[in-house]
Amino acid sequence: MPSVRLVRRYVFSSAHRLHSAELSPEENARLYGKCNNPQGHGHNYAIEVAVTGPVDARTGFCCDLTAVDSAVRRAVLDRFDHQDLNALPEFARLVPTGENIARVVWDKLIAEGLPLTSVRLQETRDNFFEYRGD
Ligand SMILES: [Zn+2]
Repeated sequence: MPSVRLVRRYVFSSAHRLHSAELSPEENARLYGKCNNPQGHGHNYAIEVAVTGPVDARTGFCCDLTAVDSAVRRAVLDRFDHQDLNALPEFARLVPTGENIARVVWDKLIAEGLPLTSVRLQETRDNFFEYRGD
């Protein structure tokens, strides 16, 4: 049974501040630069969610796209869109860097039962973060 990977793109807008409670104010300022600004800043994030499955002989589909859409909406978009990521419990002990956002999205979608193969987060025109689990 041939397996196919389906990749679907979603967008959300969030604010964040890069600041680690483990670091001194000077280290935070040096490491994160203007992203350590106490007022935070925003991004128009895009996530590409990849799921893989065998192509169903009857439907011709590898995954139920409606189920993928509702899982992403429920677990990610409804939680993160137009929110301050630093204020969310998901990031209470985690700096909301692109790396950590990609991992949190992965964990949320795995918990939704999706057959995930990767999560790719685009933070800026030039920055992408890809996570494929451990
Ligand atoms: Zn940023």
